[in-house]
Amino acid sequence: MCPHSPSCPDAMALDHEAARSVACHPEQGWSLLCNGVVVFEDTGELLPGGDTVAPHRPTDLWQQVGGSLADPVGSPGTIS
Ligand SMILES: [Zn+2]
Repeated sequence: MCPHSPSCPDAMALDHEAARSVACHPEQGWSLLCNGVVVFEDTGELLPGGDTVAPHRPTDLWQQVGGSLADPVGSPGTIS
C-alpha cells in the first residue's frame, strides 16, 4: 500500500503515525496516511481493520501521568 522507499511503518506498527500523509483534510480535521491509517486532529485514529485508537494528545497524557502533583490548577486543599 505504501509507495515510499524505504517504506513507512505498517498500520499495525507502534510508530504507524510516522507514515506520510496521502490525503489531508484539515478543514474536516483528518488525514489519511499511506499505510491506511486515518488520523484525526484530536489525535484519535481509525485503523484499516476498523479498529480505533482513542485520542492521546500529549496534554492528556501529561495529566494522566502527572496526576494531582502536576495538576496546573492545584488541588483545593493546598490553599490555606
Ligand atoms: Zn509511505
